[in-house]
Amino acid sequence: MTELSSKILNSIESVIRFKENSKIVPLHEPFFDDTNAWKYVKNCIDTGWVSSAGDWVNKFEKEICSYTGSPYAVAVNNGTVGLRLALHLLGVRYGDEVLLPPYSFVATANSISHLGAIPHFIDIDKNSLSMSPKSLERRLEKIAYKKEGKVYNKETGRRISALLPVHVFGVPADLISLAKISKNWGIPIVEDAAEALGSWIEQNNKRTHCGLVGEIGVISFNGNKLITTGGGGVVLTKNKELAEKAKHLSTTAKIDHPWEFDHNEIGWNDRLPNLNAALGLSQLEVLEKRLLMKIELINKYKNAFQNIKEVTVFSNKHKSVSNNWLVTILLDIKDKIIAKNERDALLESSHKRKIMLRPLWKPLHKLKIYSKSPRSILKVADELEYKIICLPSSPQLIK
Ligand SMILES: *Cc1c(COP(=O)(O)O)cnc(C)c1O
Repeated sequence: MTELSSKILNSIESVIRFKENSKIVPLHEPFFDDTNAWKYVKNCIDTGWVSSAGDWVNKFEKEICSYTGSPYAVAVNNGTVGLRLALHLLGVRYGDEVLLPPYSFVATANSISHLGAIPHFIDIDKNSLSMSPKSLERRLEKIAYKKEGKVYNKETGRRISALLPVHVFGVPADLISLAKISKNWGIPIVEDAAEALGSWIEQNNKRTHCGLVGEIGVISFNGNKLITTGGGGVVLTKNKELAEKAKHLSTTAKIDHPWEFDHNEIGWNDRLPNLNAALGLSQLEVLEKRLLMKIELINKYKNAFQNIKEVTVFSNKHKSVSNNWLVTILLDIKDKIIAKNERDALLESSHKRKIMLRPLWKPLHKLKIYSKSPRSILKVADELEYKIICLPSSPQLIK
C-alpha cells in the first residue's frame, strides 16, 4: 500500500460507520428502515394491484411533479428505457447521431444504440465532468451544417438529432450554456438526470430541477441511486404533447377503450409497475432527509481530507445545487501514469479492506463496442481518466 492510499483510507474510515454483521462497505446502498416501504408494498399485494396499472403509479408521478416542479412526469421501468423513449420522442431515428459526453454509465450510449442511432462523443468540462459547452460549440462549427432546419454531420452525412448531456454523480452539467447552443443550432436536449434527483440548476435566483432545462429529462430509481423503486425511472417534461406521447408509447400505444385492442403505433411496454411505484413513494417521503444526510456526509469527507494535499473533494463550480449522490475525489497528480499507479494501489488496498471505492467509468469511447464512434478531441476527458475516485456515499453510513 502506498503512503497516499493509506492516508486516504484512514480518512475514509474516520468518516464512515461499518454496519454490524456486514463486512463490506458498498458504494451506495438502498435503505428502508425509516420508511413506509413495507406498508405501501403490502397494500399492492393485499389489493392485487401489483402490475402496470394502479393508484401508486399515479401518486408517485404526482409527487415527482410536486417535488421537481415538472408539470408532467411519466414513470417507466428504468432509466435506460426512459432515455431511449425520450430520444425517440424528440425524433432520433435509425442512422442519426446523438452527441454525449464520454463519462457516463454505459446506458447513456446504449439508449442511443437501441434506436439504431450512433453515439458521438464530445469532450468534458473539468467543472462538471459533463459535456463541455465550448467543446460542443467548436465541434459543431467544425463538422455540422444546417439544411432545411435539420443539422447534419458533413464528415459522415448523418443527421445530428439530439444532445444528451449527463449530470454526473448528481453534479449538474452547465445546462444554461448547453441550452443556448441547442437553441442556436435547433438540436433538442435530453438530459440524462439519472443520478440527479434533488439537483438543481440556478439562474437569475431561480432554480430549475435537473432534467427540466432541456426538452426532456430522465431520472433513474435503480437500487444504487439516491432513492429507489427497485428498478424504475421517470421521464420529465414541460411539454404536454411530449408527456402524452411518452405515456402512450410506454403503454403499447393502445387506444383507450373498455375492451378493444387497438394500437395506433408500435409502442413499448415501459410502464413502471404499481409495486415499484409504492416502494418509490415510500422513498420519496424521506428524500429531503436523505439530502440533508448527504450534505453532512460530504462535509465530513471534506474535513477528513483537508490535510492531504493530493486530494480534493470534487464539487461543482457552476451555479447549481448537487444532490451529492456520490462523493468524488480528484487526485491532484499531474502525471497521468503516476496518477494511475496511485489510483490502482488505492483501489486494490480499499478492496482488501472491503471498502468499495470505484474509479471513474472507463470512458465510453474506449469500450470496444463504441471504439469506432465519432468524437471530438477528448483532451480533458483523457487528462482526468485516472484521477477520479468515488467514495462510499450511502447516507446511512455517517458515524
Ligand atoms: C443509472 C444510470 C442510467 C440508467 O438507469 P437504469 O435505471 O439503471 O436503467 C443511465 N445513466 C446514468 C448516468 C446512470 O447513472
